[in-house]
Amino acid sequence: MTISVALRRAIWQRAENRCEYCQMPQDFDPVTFEIDHVIPEKMNGATELQNLCLACFKCNNHKGPNIAAIDPKTSEKAFLFDPRSHNWFEHFRWDGPILRSETPEGRATIELLQVNVGHRVAHRRQLIVEGVFPPGNRA
Ligand SMILES: [Zn+2]
Repeated sequence: MTISVALRRAIWQRAENRCEYCQMPQDFDPVTFEIDHVIPEKMNGATELQNLCLACFKCNNHKGPNIAAIDPKTSEKAFLFDPRSHNWFEHFRWDGPILRSETPEGRATIELLQVNVGHRVAHRRQLIVEGVFPPGNRA
């Protein structure tokens, strides 16, 4: 479904131009971020503000049409982190350039979205050196 300009603008503003999964600011990623349906359209997820989030191409590409994945710690199924109903800071924390999680949702999301693959970690490490990552904490 088409996402109106006004809706796109609202999503970008709400996300402060950052990926709502890995927190990468668009300013530091050469590939234009995308609007992700938290509940995919295939599962009748609505094209409305409450079901949409801003995602970098990498996160969105790996998330695909999934809402769940395997928690690598327990090998059990877990729902993915939901930017609309979960608090990012309750599921994730930065350990330098590595994203960590103590929750099944967080771990499953990091794994499926491949947030900690080498080139992404190397990119964040460089941004940390430059003093521009991670972005300031939001309450
Ligand atoms: Zn991302």
